[in-house]
Amino acid sequence: MTTPDPETLDLSTRLIRAGQVRSPHKETAEAIYMNSGYVYDSAEEAEAAFDGSAPRFVYSRVGSPTVKMFEDRLAAAEGARICHATASGMAAVQAALTGLVKAGDRIVSGRALFTSCRWILSDFLPRFGVTVEFVDAVDLSAWEAALARPATLVLLESPTNPTMEVIDIAAVAALAHAAGAKVVVDNVFATPLLQHPFELGADLVVYSATKHIDGQGRCLGGAILCNDPEWAEQTYGVFLRHTGPTLSPFNAWTLLKGLETLELRVERACATAQAVAEFLDSRPEVARVLYPGLKSHPQHALAMRQMNGSGGPMLSFALKGGKAAAFAMMNRLGLIDISNNLGDAKSLIAHPCTSTHQSRPEAERLECGITPDLVRLSIGLESAKDLIADLGQALDG
Ligand SMILES: *Cc1c(COP(=O)(O)O)cnc(C)c1O
Repeated sequence: MTTPDPETLDLSTRLIRAGQVRSPHKETAEAIYMNSGYVYDSAEEAEAAFDGSAPRFVYSRVGSPTVKMFEDRLAAAEGARICHATASGMAAVQAALTGLVKAGDRIVSGRALFTSCRWILSDFLPRFGVTVEFVDAVDLSAWEAALARPATLVLLESPTNPTMEVIDIAAVAALAHAAGAKVVVDNVFATPLLQHPFELGADLVVYSATKHIDGQGRCLGGAILCNDPEWAEQTYGVFLRHTGPTLSPFNAWTLLKGLETLELRVERACATAQAVAEFLDSRPEVARVLYPGLKSHPQHALAMRQMNGSGGPMLSFALKGGKAAAFAMMNRLGLIDISNNLGDAKSLIAHPCTSTHQSRPEAERLECGITPDLVRLSIGLESAKDLIADLGQALDG
């Protein structure tokens, strides 16, 4: 029997089968190659490895078998031609941005971003002569105005963290391409299951694999995916090889195991998130629920179209009593843990204003809707009944 071409297989099958290369021992699970270097049978063999005539693994900063299995599996799942794994999600974002721009270039970005992504754009890249313009990403006329002038790169995150805004990726990508910009989509909150940015016009997709791809709070990891391997190599590929934010083989193995259960976990978390969002929406203590799966969400119709009919595994909500009520509710939770992480099997709650986004200026937080009454909930794999009971008793006070 020959192994089927991954392109002919369903996403469910690709997440389990794509990319595996068995050693001569024919192990069932993927092997972990925990080595830093490689040996050659002759000086000529080493020369051929370096002049490109006989490509092979030469050093684990540049590539290694377990990491390559993870890259090939995620690429097959995403429908991308190439994947570069990185040590964390931020290493992926940093390489994708820094690898693509030079002094004098212009970036246009959604203003609501994961804090460290916002820091790279607001505080870091401007030091090197890159200009960055932020827009209200749900307002297409704002993108239109910003992209009326040429740009090098557009970055967006959808749904956004923690305000759960859904951005029309296809519409923004069309405007970006007309302005000469490459489009980078941070797809963390949607996961590879719910949203397929390449089909919507993205040039690069970045992940923090730390989140739902691992999904069990075990390790950090990240990835950049692309459909133009040559361009990828000339831009962020060469940057990654020489600067070294390499994923460890052990973490790559953990993430390979994560991909195998990703679909089941995400489906379960999304169904629970919908039930929890509806419950919170019915509670008098709750001022508003930000969840794309609710009909009341301003981009509900877009979310259903763009995210495979699901609101996703993350939600946020605001308490009528402000910060004091939010803290009191969080402190009363018995099951849901207070944590700034997300995408774990354990449900986690955070107060973004005083934790994940505390380092950002207050004016910027408020502009992005990160108010003191807001909490963010990452739905895990516990039963919906138990999570709702925990939130219910915490709101009862
Ligand atoms: C967590 C996260 C990142 C950063 O990933 P790390 O693995 O923590 O470095 C980037 N973007 C989003 C949307 C995230 O949630």
